Amino acid sequence: MTMTQDDRPTLKIAGAIEFSPAPEGHPVDIRPHQGHFIDGMFVEGAEEGRFQTIDPATARPLATVAAATAQEIDAAVKAARKAQQGVWGRMSGAERGKFLYRIARRLQERAREFAVLETMDNGKPIRETRDVDVPLAAQHFFYYAGWADKLGYAVPGRTPHPVGVAAQVIPWNFPLLMLSWKIAPALACGNTVVLKPSETTPLSAMRFAQILQEVGLPPGVVNLVNGPGATGALLVGHEGVDKVAFTGSTGVGRHIMRTVAGTKKKLTLELGGKSAHIVYRDAALTQAVEGVIDGIFFNQGHVCCAGSRLLLEASIADEFVERLKIRMQSLRIGNPLDKNTDVGAINSAAQLQRIQHYMDIAEQEGAGIWQGAACPAPSEGFFHLPTLLTGVQQSDTVVREEIFGPVLTVLTFRTPEEAVAKANDSEYGLAAGVWTEKTAKLFGTAHALNAGVVWANGYNLFDPASPFGGVRHSGFGREGGIAGLWPYLEAR
Ligand code: NAP
Ligand code: MG
Repeated sequence: MTMTQDDRPTLKIAGAIEFSPAPEGHPVDIRPHQGHFIDGMFVEGAEEGRFQTIDPATARPLATVAAATAQEIDAAVKAARKAQQGVWGRMSGAERGKFLYRIARRLQERAREFAVLETMDNGKPIRETRDVDVPLAAQHFFYYAGWADKLGYAVPGRTPHPVGVAAQVIPWNFPLLMLSWKIAPALACGNTVVLKPSETTPLSAMRFAQILQEVGLPPGVVNLVNGPGATGALLVGHEGVDKVAFTGSTGVGRHIMRTVAGTKKKLTLELGGKSAHIVYRDAALTQAVEGVIDGIFFNQGHVCCAGSRLLLEASIADEFVERLKIRMQSLRIGNPLDKNTDVGAINSAAQLQRIQHYMDIAEQEGAGIWQGAACPAPSEGFFHLPTLLTGVQQSDTVVREEIFGPVLTVLTFRTPEEAVAKANDSEYGLAAGVWTEKTAKLFGTAHALNAGVVWANGYNLFDPASPFGGVRHSGFGREGGIAGLWPYLEAR
């Protein structure tokens, strides 16, 4: 039977145009309990300490999750050591590369399933997981597969050796993508890993372990242990670990740095940010509005490099804010599994509370608070409307601290020097965006900014060949590109 345009079921959202539902919008089956993946096998884990992972769009539980005990973490580290010394570290780079290519291809083949699962567990719109998270994760494995037999070119004149066993801890905002940023370069260089996903988003990592079994990855090369922050602390503190790679908040990053200090462990930290957009009056304003919206609202502001501070040249400030408000009023907030949704759910009740806490501070600091979307936020689940904070000062808490939500502060500047000074006046230094049609101004500004990444007339553009990472309190070490190999190599 063929369906005509009129027969198709439509999705009704108050105040917005109606579209057909997306084929991606069908939930996937989830095992009711998730344990760990140790030495090539799924294990149920201890009864004690189990917790739930929920769907933040409905606040309903998706599965129970085990919290790894010290013995389980020890078993995972020992399995990784055995695999590193016995198989993976001895294998030729070309052979390791074949496994990475297989992983990348299986991720592509199972892309829809991973996109839906990630959206259910994290709350971000299916458009993001389908078009960004999952394709980029596969690309990282493809990219580092290509490096596995060419590592000598990454350290010219010296011989590359693997570091050993890597302990990797990742956050909830890009669960599968952060996993691929961590695992792909580590494996390409001959290391083995024990990775801890975030407690609110363990599901895509556990499904990824199915792919590892499908491609026949030797047992112990990748191990996954679930649990809360305490599990992460046990893992990074384990004496059998040679390298620690952490992505998460600056506070936890500092704590890990103290734990690792004085040991032989190598360390990389990818931490928080309070990244600025600088929009000059000669910028293509429609594009700039779109870039600013993309940079803070499409992922609910759950992006380490979210462009959360907007710096506008004073002469265009009023017009730009008006344009932003108009565009914000067309943003659909709601069911993340609907392909038309722009703004999904906040990942957890705790994160929503944190954002609301900053909204209270904004009020106390006298900010103008403006919220807009095409429809009201759903009453169930955790949602926060896209928010503009105007009339703020450079010294305000909401301008200085990472909110990690769909909240954009607006400030103005009169000269490029003032724009750069304001953008750099932050303890962080992860990313920045510069918007201007004038090339000299673009390069002059970009070079003066203290940020690991500067995007020109665009934002949130990622490529596995391009290194990503911060300066100052945003961390050190790079992920992606040739620089992403160095933390996983000993060059002798
Ligand atoms: P978080 O609280 O620091 O947690 C990150 C990970 O560390 C989670 O797996 C967490 O476990 C674990 N953890 C917590 N305490 C620990 C401890 N004492 N020792 C070892 N591990 C510990 O950060 P988040 O709230 O999940 O993520 C948001 C932050 O990540 C933001 O600041 C964001 O900017 C940053 N981020 C940075 C990048 C980057 O590339 N620079 C990328 C993405 C995110 P639980 O989840 O179970 O608590
Ligand atoms: Mg969840």
